[in-house]
Amino acid sequence: MILTTHALAGAAIGKNFDNPWLIILLSLAFHYIMDSFRHGEYLDRKSFFKNTWWKVVLDLFIGLTIIGVAIFSKNFNLRETSIILLGSFFSMLPDLLTVFYWKLNFKILEKIFNFHAWVHKHPPFSPERAWTFRNSLNDIIFSLVAIFLLFT
Ligand SMILES: [Zn+2]
Repeated sequence: MILTTHALAGAAIGKNFDNPWLIILLSLAFHYIMDSFRHGEYLDRKSFFKNTWWKVVLDLFIGLTIIGVAIFSKNFNLRETSIILLGSFFSMLPDLLTVFYWKLNFKILEKIFNFHAWVHKHPPFSPERAWTFRNSLNDIIFSLVAIFLLFT
């Protein structure tokens, strides 16, 4: 799923739990659970750093902006803000590790990379993972639930 969806889910977990270790565990677990649902990706065979970096930046920016609006409008204190950001960071971490493995080929990350690939039901570059509205529905639903949990 896109980073915005993962970041929002982690923020919602951080907002609704108190124990940082539990938040880290749940955020990581939810990344893989959410990735097992059908979802489109904006990365394809033609994706290179040059034509993709701005999509990643925009994706991150949208997620973090919504979380920022929640933090300011709900007046979360420093501790609440920290664990919300902790949740969103760990929710996005598996994708960051995937990029590290993919680009830098760190051997120790291979198992994590394989597990991440395995939770995806549909193979890479299949029509079910194309960047279409139909494939984005689960991202939209998860994001809306997370926004609801974050703002209420
Ligand atoms: Zn992922």
